[in-house]
Amino acid sequence: MIEANNPNLKSWITVPINSDFSIQNIPFGVAKTKNGVVVVTRIGDTVIDIHQLALKGFVSFDASVFRTSYLNDFMLLGKQATRDLRNQLSILFRDTNTAAKNNSEIQTALFNINEVEMQLPINIGDYTDFYSSEQHAYNVGCLFRDPKNALLPNWKYIPVGYHGRSSSILPSGVAIHRPKGQKKPNPDEAPVFGNCNLLDFELETAFFTYQGKPIGDSITTAEADDYIFGMALLNDWSARDIQAWEYVPLGPFLAKNFASHISCWIVTLDALEPFRTEGPVQEPKVFSYLEYTGNKHLDIKLEVTIQPEGSSEVVVSKSNYKYMYWNMNQQLAHHTINGCNIRVGDCMGSGTISGPNEGEFGSMLEITWKGTKPVKMLDGTERKFIADNDTVIMRGYAEKNGVRVGFGEVSAKILPAK
Ligand code: CA
Repeated sequence: MIEANNPNLKSWITVPINSDFSIQNIPFGVAKTKNGVVVVTRIGDTVIDIHQLALKGFVSFDASVFRTSYLNDFMLLGKQATRDLRNQLSILFRDTNTAAKNNSEIQTALFNINEVEMQLPINIGDYTDFYSSEQHAYNVGCLFRDPKNALLPNWKYIPVGYHGRSSSILPSGVAIHRPKGQKKPNPDEAPVFGNCNLLDFELETAFFTYQGKPIGDSITTAEADDYIFGMALLNDWSARDIQAWEYVPLGPFLAKNFASHISCWIVTLDALEPFRTEGPVQEPKVFSYLEYTGNKHLDIKLEVTIQPEGSSEVVVSKSNYKYMYWNMNQQLAHHTINGCNIRVGDCMGSGTISGPNEGEFGSMLEITWKGTKPVKMLDGTERKFIADNDTVIMRGYAEKNGVRVGFGEVSAKILPAK
């Protein structure tokens, strides 16, 4: 067992009830503090400046890897370094360590979450988005084709994916403008140009990779855990009307690349290990390079809310990462089976995560069934898709044996089109 995951551990830092940031979490992020931009972790509502701890010798790491705008330098040290740092931080902040608690130099490395500004944590190189939730693929197939042929013939053979764009991946909290583009709202008329009218979110998670193998080599499903640093929540915004017109024949382009938001804390794969769960039976049998052993899925509860301006949040979806058909190990094995190299800081989206029941769908397209079942807001208005000045908030956490490990939230407001 990973020492820092011991469910009996408690911290001398206060952890509020239902906090995602137990001492068993120890996620990583980057924050702007009064000391500058540094790599941080978090326990409860306390943000911990790891650069300060390293400078003063409280963790045995070269401090310079923590005095940067991104986690990439630290990630380049690999999986064992991540594990070592989590363990060192766990020892420093557990309640039995009264020497650390009473050390004034450690106190100067602690900030309240409200005193810092969280940054985009990773300098993201390539962004790949998969399409790995069966219910989502089925729902979309029903909406745009027919229920009998909802899944395309390749879907249960290939973890389908496409290459996205990393330049527009934003940290939680940064507002964006409604995109504009070409649409063809009436099939019998010519296309038109204008504001996106069918703006949607996609409830996803993302995983971020360590440095991979040289080009030409592949990562097996058994090796994949060693190449995955951690996960975040991902809102992969989609302009459905632009998407419908542009996607033939090469797939998504401007409907997807105007913005995607990620949560600011990267929860390590190590911290998520206790929440492993069995995946679905995969039938037909997958190709041998996609076979895996052990539990590689994860039980992570997910939620989406919409908050209209001046009103309160309304929950529009409660899903779970365990509903994925293809797991991360299979996605990474598939991504590299042709010799494609992955690099430190690559971002891999799960694809929209929809559960089998109504109320568990991961996009407005599915929740409102293409606008035929609008959702009521508390201010009396209805939503088929996302309106101007709405804020969409996603949250996620895993919980077992009284230990909660979560991501916090990814939140973003939609401003009117420019
Ligand atoms: Ca997506």
